[in-house]
Amino acid sequence: MSSPYKVRVFGDPVLRKVAAEISDVDAKLVKLVDDMLETMYAEPGIGLAAPQVGVQRRLFVYDVGEGPEAIVNPVISEATGEWVYEEGCLSVPGLYWEIVRPKEIHLTGYDLDGNEVSIEADELLARLFQHELDHLDGVMLIDHLDADTRKAALKTLRERFADADDGQEKRVKPGGSLTLP
Ligand code: ZN
Repeated sequence: MSSPYKVRVFGDPVLRKVAAEISDVDAKLVKLVDDMLETMYAEPGIGLAAPQVGVQRRLFVYDVGEGPEAIVNPVISEATGEWVYEEGCLSVPGLYWEIVRPKEIHLTGYDLDGNEVSIEADELLARLFQHELDHLDGVMLIDHLDADTRKAALKTLRERFADADDGQEKRVKPGGSLTLP
């Protein structure tokens, strides 16, 4: 059986947009969550953010082996420590980089019943939350790389995805100044 969604990959402009807050949890959103989970399990992956299926809403799903979860309008309020982890992304299939991020974070948001959730996350879970939050802000893995590694990564990505074109790259002029859309 095929997945409800095809995961958007590097070069798709939707991955560079800032997703909008969700104001209502309705039947449509619940269906979206079900379809995102099915898509995530089929890949397989342990997390998936709405922009990765082309939906510009602040929502992600995950399962780190303890069952499916969905977080609506997530916010990271505290981040401490440092942890290096080889990180990959379903939107950048087959590529992994060692990336340093805070080791522990505090995530708040809402579940599908509209209840506030508050999670103290460490290591893998903290990493997952930070990764998915990035997707909601149009940030991709390569943005965490140093200039040289990023340059090499972009080259690989352009070779790998025939029409890969990083929207963010386009807005950066040769002089390095950022032109906002
Ligand atoms: Zn990702």
